[in-house]
Amino acid sequence: MAAEPGRVLKPCNGAGGPHITSAVKPRVAGLPVKERTSTQSAEPGRVLKTSESSEDSDLTPTAKPGMEEEHASAKPREPTVTGQKWSLQDFDIGRPLGKGKFGNVYLAREKSTKYVVALKVLFKSQLQKAGVEHQLRREVEIQSHLRHPHILRLFGYFHDKTRVYLILEYAPKGELYKELTKNTRFEEKRAVVYINQLASALQYCHSKKVIHRDIKPENLLLGHTGDLKIADFGWSVHAPSSRRTTLCGTLDYLPPEMIEGSLHDEKVDLWSLGVLCYEFLVGKPPFEAASHEETYRRITRVDLRFPSYVSNSARSLISMLLKHDPNQRISLDKVLEHPWIKDNLNPTTS
Ligand code: ATP
Ligand code: MG
Repeated sequence: MAAEPGRVLKPCNGAGGPHITSAVKPRVAGLPVKERTSTQSAEPGRVLKTSESSEDSDLTPTAKPGMEEEHASAKPREPTVTGQKWSLQDFDIGRPLGKGKFGNVYLAREKSTKYVVALKVLFKSQLQKAGVEHQLRREVEIQSHLRHPHILRLFGYFHDKTRVYLILEYAPKGELYKELTKNTRFEEKRAVVYINQLASALQYCHSKKVIHRDIKPENLLLGHTGDLKIADFGWSVHAPSSRRTTLCGTLDYLPPEMIEGSLHDEKVDLWSLGVLCYEFLVGKPPFEAASHEETYRRITRVDLRFPSYVSNSARSLISMLLKHDPNQRISLDKVLEHPWIKDNLNPTTS
């Protein structure tokens, strides 16, 4: 399969799995699940535009202004209703937060608790066309079971005739990628804060045998104190993986073992952490090149070059993460102990 142009790297899967409506099982703590007949679709006219046939139809805002202020000022309370499935009628819909591949993401508020969430809307027809229902199912299964301050919570999901809805923790400060673009690159102290948070989130994932495989700035969101949240577990799997995935999109974040099609394990995330660390400090990923072929060459040769302003300590950590041999990569435990992290987080005050 030819790689699609563009920044976003995705393992592409040709074959479609079983239909999403019969396969996703709600097993989510936090925002509990409400029982409801699964064939029931959302009430037309209330939150949906009248032209239901159009897949571009957006959700019409139902929330009064002030949703975000409420979230910012009050400590959010998680809904406590149990034993029932969610439906669109449980939510007031606010402004769109962003556009995803298969639909949009909206600010939303659960009516009974006023708990503010992000509602990700995915069109079933588009999921089917792309053959990614099984990936979505895996995303839901995996992300809904993870509990970590730097992993975006997935509280639950529901669906109607045409759409699947994911109830996600709202990340008020949006995409880290935008921050990076705005700042061109981050100062080392700021990069250290993010890498430290990311390493501890990945340590938690790996302890659960979950590998993310798609760590990059677009998949990192910011909470309301500016803390990092890993989002988008669409390409995560349980380790070790021999899954033969066809890859499309940019190769920039891929470790050699994945582009070379070898068996891979959680150490792929160590590579991506190194790529990300470099990108935070330099403003672009380390193996960027004009063509896929050239990026491929640079990755497999680990053609790593640093601009002069990158500190020796940062270079040391990045070089220890970007090792061709996955077994030579520094462990997450040691990442957290590395002087670049330690010294920048706890500067000596003597
Ligand atoms: P892609 O696969 O191309 O990354 P996607 O379908 O995964 O797209 P998301 O990246 O999840 O879609 O969401 C699209 C955009 O919506 C994000 O880039 C972000 O700006 C916004 N967004 C998504 N989830 C949240 C959230 N929980 N809080 C705040 N904003 C969000
Ligand atoms: Mg995304």
